[in-house]
Amino acid sequence: MTTVSLGMPRLPAAGVPDVRLPEDRPATGGLVDRFGRVATDLRVSLTDRCNLRCTYCMPAEGLPTLPKDSVMTREEIVRLVGIATRDLGVRQVRFTGGEPLLRRDLVEIVGECAALEHRPELSLTTNAVGLDSRAAALREAGLDRVNVSLDTLDPDTFATLARRPFLARTLAGIDAAAREFDLVKINAVLVRGVNLDHAAELLAWCLERGFELRFIEQMPLDADHAWDRAAMVTAAEVRDQLGTRFSLEPDEEPRDGAPAERFVVRDQTGERLGRVGIIASVTEPFCDDCRRTRLTAEGGVRDCLFAHTETDLLGPLRAGADDAVLADLWRTAMWAKQAGHGMDDTGSGTDLDAGFEQPERTMSAIGG
Ligand code: SAM
Repeated sequence: MTTVSLGMPRLPAAGVPDVRLPEDRPATGGLVDRFGRVATDLRVSLTDRCNLRCTYCMPAEGLPTLPKDSVMTREEIVRLVGIATRDLGVRQVRFTGGEPLLRRDLVEIVGECAALEHRPELSLTTNAVGLDSRAAALREAGLDRVNVSLDTLDPDTFATLARRPFLARTLAGIDAAAREFDLVKINAVLVRGVNLDHAAELLAWCLERGFELRFIEQMPLDADHAWDRAAMVTAAEVRDQLGTRFSLEPDEEPRDGAPAERFVVRDQTGERLGRVGIIASVTEPFCDDCRRTRLTAEGGVRDCLFAHTETDLLGPLRAGADDAVLADLWRTAMWAKQAGHGMDDTGSGTDLDAGFEQPERTMSAIGG
């Protein structure tokens, strides 16, 4: 097993590791864990770099970036995605980061993953800055869906939250995504005293355009370690905010492993306007139904956003490991997945559950 603690030296690329099966792990098949969950949804971080500095994610001055040669190349990404889809049962692949649009070879990565024999559904999570000039090429390359992060429609609030005055560029990217893709999802994080009271307006804007909006509870993955449970906007508060303008009723459609709890949105006359989702990662966690596996930009498998260990695949890959060995390392990594992230046991203030410790890496460094 090649699990390394974060901050410790990574597996030396000197040799291919000896894969020893944990006694109780099935020898073949998909990415199962001890609790019977099966990961079929892969998030691949393409870069740790980002052109925004969102307060809940990165520090104002940014983070030290990874050396170029420790980031997966296009060929390495496509090879690992190929193993995941052919040998490990992965069906959905989402490219994220950092900001994936900062990868010059993004269109090629998408095209080569779309050409894989076991083609996964391909999606992108992006801040959409620069998407206007690339949306058409991404669709032609085979991208199926786009999720754009947008926390507010107010330029000043955007500049406060993202620490960059790029609202117009994000909106231009969203327009292009709407032209090219059938379904555009918008992700928003609400921060008390900053954009909480923008929630209903953002929903109205999304409903008018046919976008599906999802609010994400802020998680303790910020670089400044300033997350405070008491200050965090909860899913219940989001529902209350939206209730000032809309009526929400639980969506009857099965959730089917999706992290968002979905609601049908109606106006005050009862007319159905669309849907909204709320991802309550902190207050109503969905760990029991988690189907995710993650690859960091350095080719490390993470079994959870909040994991403290990663399993290096890139070192063994560069040292000549064959697909069977890499698949086995990935299975072993996922077999070790914990039952839950532990954030849900209430603490107060910054006091989380005694067992919970914020991971060293930020959301931008893990791949959100
Ligand atoms: N740059 C891309 C983007 O903006 O969508 C992809 C990476 S970003 C880390 C992915 C998502 O994570 C964004 O929707 C962002 O709002 C969200 N995110 C970042 N930090 C977060 C935190 N501490 N809690 C909840 N969501 C967070």
